[in-house]
Amino acid sequence: MVLSTIKNAIKYMVKKPYTRQVPRKDKRYKSENLRGAHILYMDKCTGCSMCQRVCPAACIDMVVVEGDWPRNHRKRFPRIDHSKCTFCALCVEYCPFNALSMTDATGFELFTTDKSKTLKMPQELKPIGKETLTKQKLLSSYAPPYALKKFEKALEKSRKVSSSG
Ligand code: SF4
Ligand code: SF4
Repeated sequence: MVLSTIKNAIKYMVKKPYTRQVPRKDKRYKSENLRGAHILYMDKCTGCSMCQRVCPAACIDMVVVEGDWPRNHRKRFPRIDHSKCTFCALCVEYCPFNALSMTDATGFELFTTDKSKTLKMPQELKPIGKETLTKQKLLSSYAPPYALKKFEKALEKSRKVSSSG
């Protein structure tokens, strides 16, 4: 027991740390499911403020962007402060109009020592990485609720009965 503990301690003393060095000192980590910088599809956004309401980090506020926005007569769009954002994706999930998604642009791309650059205006929420997370992808990853599974089973059963009779 003591011997194996000492062995493990020595092993981890000589091992490289798992933590990646940011910015740009280490290889970028990318995956198909990363939750990184947002994309805002301004043509889909209605300015409903749902994203602002559900954001647990209170890092979204609504700002006016002049222009011709047929779906958004008040011209109000979300502005996101990436220095407060936890990248939880609730704003993506709750947007009723699929106007938000996320990309694989994370620490490496977003790193800055200038805090004023972390506040992203709606026009700046453009793809700076590959789109990895959409509302549809999020919802399809959830297991259907038990009641729904039960209902689907009953429906399947009744279909079988009616087709055999
Ligand atoms: S990802 Fe989460 S914390 Fe970031 S803006 Fe959206 S709701 Fe807020
Ligand atoms: S991004 Fe979606 S939830 Fe946020 S204001 Fe626009 S339509 Fe509403």
